[in-house]
Amino acid sequence: MPEPSYIKLYESGELKLRLDALEAKLASCTVCPRTCRVNRLKDEHGFCLSGYKPYITSICDHHGEEPVLSGTHGSGTVFFGSCNLRCVYCQNWQISQKRNFYQSTEMDFNEAARQIVKLQDEKGVHNINFVSPAHFVPQMVRIIYEAIPLGLHLPIVYNTNAYDALASLKLLDDIVDIYLPDFKYFDDRNGVKYSRAPGYSIYAKAAIREMFRQVGALQLNEDGLAVRGLLIRHLILPNDLSDSADVLQWISQTLGKEATVSLMAQYFPTHKAKDTPLLNREIHYSEYLKAVEALNENGLQKGFVQDMTAPETYQPDFYSSGHPFEKDTKE
Ligand code: SF4
Repeated sequence: MPEPSYIKLYESGELKLRLDALEAKLASCTVCPRTCRVNRLKDEHGFCLSGYKPYITSICDHHGEEPVLSGTHGSGTVFFGSCNLRCVYCQNWQISQKRNFYQSTEMDFNEAARQIVKLQDEKGVHNINFVSPAHFVPQMVRIIYEAIPLGLHLPIVYNTNAYDALASLKLLDDIVDIYLPDFKYFDDRNGVKYSRAPGYSIYAKAAIREMFRQVGALQLNEDGLAVRGLLIRHLILPNDLSDSADVLQWISQTLGKEATVSLMAQYFPTHKAKDTPLLNREIHYSEYLKAVEALNENGLQKGFVQDMTAPETYQPDFYSSGHPFEKDTKE
């Protein structure tokens, strides 16, 4: 496996400069698009209710990601607590929105660094996958910075809701190897209504463009594992609230047909969605087929389509027909 580019940044001193620039944002927080301007270095809280040290609810080998990430030994997943969105249907709501829980999971940077290197060395995971990092970008980079002298050498996955600040993302150039953004909505009224995210599509489009500029299309190694590139996730919501046709058309027209997409059908009404009209049911098969058709109509042939019979868990159950890049629309 080629050496990740963050090692060179570390050796040249550039990684420390990036870390300093990112941590400076915490003094009047502009880490994500909400620009709360609170001093997180002094543990003041903005929308994400997070201070300086990261909340980390678990660090583990995870086998429920797409096969190019999970492989045989799993993805080394760091689940950050809290979030900069408030999705009413969040499938991880206990760690993203249950304040009493996630605020008890603060972790020292050196402990997090030690644990990810342990996952790498003892479990043989294929990558280090930071989940919901948009409000903890400086903290993520500090963990990487402290893990490199301990021997970290795996690709870094940035697994985000895409409500990311462009200025923060630009500082991640050559630190992140694989970007794994959601693209949740095209109609910003839905972003506000269901995730409290004003301008969601504007920020997500800018973020995804920047991610693609940095890493390009998804690249696999000889074992079929992702080593660099962009993989966009799109969760089909009931009643077309995720605007699937518009999202997929934008991806195809903006990034080209080489863009890799993971179309997810695992939606189930959890958290506040059970009491939310239009979101209080699973998706219908006709809605699933419509999204798959949009994928085909837009010529997006690389990626994954989730089986609609996937169990009602938050873990995706991906499959592919032989080659991991072949889309399988088995009915
Ligand atoms: S990271 Fe948190 S405090 Fe900073 S701007 Fe975003 S929501 Fe506000």
